[in-house]
Amino acid sequence: MVDAVVVRATGGAEVLELTQVDPPEPGPGDLLVEVAAAGVNYIDTYHRRGIYPKDLPFVPGNEGAGVVRAVGTEVEGVDTGDVVAWADVAGSYAQQVVVPARSAYPVPEGVGAEVAAAAMLQGLTAHYLVTSTYSVKPGDTVLVHAAAGGVGLLLVQAAKARGGRVIGTVSTAEKEELAREAGADEVIRYTEKDFADEVARITDGTGVAAVYDGVGKDTFDRSLSCLAPRGMLALFGASSGAVPPVDPQRLNAAGSVFLTRPTLAHHIATPEEFRWRCDELFAAISADRLRVRIGGRYPLAEARRAHEDLEGRRTTGKLLLLPG
Ligand code: NDP
Repeated sequence: MVDAVVVRATGGAEVLELTQVDPPEPGPGDLLVEVAAAGVNYIDTYHRRGIYPKDLPFVPGNEGAGVVRAVGTEVEGVDTGDVVAWADVAGSYAQQVVVPARSAYPVPEGVGAEVAAAAMLQGLTAHYLVTSTYSVKPGDTVLVHAAAGGVGLLLVQAAKARGGRVIGTVSTAEKEELAREAGADEVIRYTEKDFADEVARITDGTGVAAVYDGVGKDTFDRSLSCLAPRGMLALFGASSGAVPPVDPQRLNAAGSVFLTRPTLAHHIATPEEFRWRCDELFAAISADRLRVRIGGRYPLAEARRAHEDLEGRRTTGKLLLLPG
C-alpha cells in the first residue's frame, strides 16, 4: 500500500484525507513514478470543492516530479531511475502516481526535483500566456494580477524576458517586494487603491496591451477598463470566484478589445508543443533566467493546511507537498 490524499466528498479543505491505497498500475504507455514533490495549484481547490466536477473518490493534484520506478512495455527512451516531471496528470497527491510517458519531461541535470515540480504547471502556464495567448512584444505594457502568486511571479519574469513593461497587483507589502524582485516595473496594492485608476495614471491614460487575470470575479470589470483599444483580456483563472456571464457588447464599449479564457491543457495537447514549452521553460531555469520561488513545503499529511493557506491568500510562489 502507498500513502495518498483522497477526496471522498467535495467540500472545504477538511475533506482532504491522508489514507493508504493500492499502488497504481502503469499501462503499456505509462510510467510508475515515486513522487518526490507534488505541486499544489489553485485548480486543486476547484476540484476539491466540486467547481470542476470529478468522479468521487479521487486523489487530487495534477503536477509533480519524482523517480521512475517502472516503465510500460510500449515506452521508449525512459528508464527506471530517471527523474521526470509532469503537469496535467491526475492523482499526484500521493507517494506513487502513474504518468503517461507523453506527459513526462526528463528533468535536466542540475535542476532538482522540487524545482521541477514547482515549475511545471505554473511555468508552462506563464509560457503559453506570454507566447500564445497574448504574445508580449518589446515596448508592450501588460498588467499581471496576483503578481506574487505561483503563476504571477513566473508570468512577471516571462513578460519581462520578452521586453514587456510589467505592472503587477498584489495585496501586501511582502508580496509587493517579491513582485518587484521578479522584475515588475510598477506594483499596485489593489486592496488599497483602485488598480484601474492606477493603471490609467501609470500609462498616461493609454491603457495596457494585455491583462493577465487569474483572480476573476473581483478584478474582471476593472481589468476590462484597463485595456488599450484592441487590447487582450486573458482571463485564466478565478481565485476570487467565477466571473458572471458577459455581454459581448461590453468588448465593443471597452475599445474593440479581445476576451479569452485559455487553459493549459489546450496548449500542451501535442507531444511537440509540450516538449517545446518544457524545453524553453527548463532552459530558462537552468540558465538562471527564470527563478522559481518555493513559498511553502508541507508533508503530504498536511495537504489540508496547504489548501487553507492558498485559499486564505497567505502564500507566495509555489506550494509543494512532500510525500517523504
Ligand atoms: P496563486 O499563488 O496566484 O494564489 C492565488 C492568489 O490570488 C492569492 O495569493 C491572492 O494574491 C490572489 N487572490 C485575489 N483574490 C483572492 C481571493 N478572494 N481568494 C484567494 N486568493 C485571491 O495561485 P496559482 O498560481 O496556483 O493560480 C493563480 C490563478 O491561475 C488561479 O485562478 C488558477 O486557477 C489559475 N491558473 C490557470 C491556469 C490555466 O491554464 N488557465 C493554469 C494555472 C493556474 P494577492 O494576495 O496578492 O491578491
